[in-house]
Amino acid sequence: MGHRRQDGAGFGQDLRRSSVHAGQTGFIRNPEPRMLQIQIGDTLITRVQDYEGPGFAPEEMFVNYQPGQWQSERDWLVPRFYDPQANQVRTSIHSWLVRTPQHTVLIDACIGNHKPRPSIPRFNQRNEPWLERLAQAGAHPEQVDFVMCTHLHADHVGWNTRLQDGRWVPTFPNARYLFTRAEYERWDDRRPDYVPKPINQHVFADSILPVVESGQMQLVDVGHTVDDALTVEAAHGHTAGHVKIRLQSGGEQAMFSGDTIHHPLQLPFPQLISVFDENPEQALQTRLDMLADCAEHGVLLMPTHFAAPYCCHVQADSGRTHQPSYRGRWHAYCEST
Ligand SMILES: [Zn+2]
Repeated sequence: MGHRRQDGAGFGQDLRRSSVHAGQTGFIRNPEPRMLQIQIGDTLITRVQDYEGPGFAPEEMFVNYQPGQWQSERDWLVPRFYDPQANQVRTSIHSWLVRTPQHTVLIDACIGNHKPRPSIPRFNQRNEPWLERLAQAGAHPEQVDFVMCTHLHADHVGWNTRLQDGRWVPTFPNARYLFTRAEYERWDDRRPDYVPKPINQHVFADSILPVVESGQMQLVDVGHTVDDALTVEAAHGHTAGHVKIRLQSGGEQAMFSGDTIHHPLQLPFPQLISVFDENPEQALQTRLDMLADCAEHGVLLMPTHFAAPYCCHVQADSGRTHQPSYRGRWHAYCEST
């Protein structure tokens, strides 16, 4: 579908080197400047944005951030991923729409509209045209066959449901919603061992239970596959049952990493630990394993929260005093409109 394009509109030495050099991956121009489309084998991936803009200060975001740690990365980090004046990272919250030859799959479901999120003003009672963006991406809710959530945090499940006549109903009436069993059990607030977190206040009730009650939830375990193209893999630590989803098509690979990595600063400094990681040691090991895998096997890294250009290939950076360390090979084409 569409034409393929392999050159990036480079924005810097490192970024120019990023043009896709191997395999069939192609970047497809799209009239919506922030809507990135990528062809991997015979699968089309489209980014569907719910938020892009300022995020936290880095010292609020990472428990072990050193003041000024961004400065050695200024060339590629500023202004795309960090605003030094405001001392805020730039962040994105998006879904990945994946169309295999057989099915339409939505990976992660962002924040959603009208949701009460008292502890996070940016998530609270929103009214964003995410469904219109989904339509621009070529999918109406009825056409989504599977919703796959890397985990059940508020910013990954919001569009699972929408408000209709005062009730939360599944946004995708024909979809099966695939959650991992461990993650579902982590957030089931009816369990006696439930541990609440401010970020997920109300989330189970308004974004998970309606899908359970409609009979659309399917609990899966690590190893589950969709269309022999998407495989659920363990990536625990950020949350108890957090997973990553590997795409394999036409000899190419991409990794929907969810919150295994939050920000590009964690490429040169993968040791930076997010304040949102429930098990920081496990989350760190998961991140290191994933980055090593991406670097070694040429896997396109597709996180949920990287600002434009949203995804990258990963290269080991042996020149650093601390190891391991990585650099992103950024694909800038999507920023050229
Ligand atoms: Zn997240």
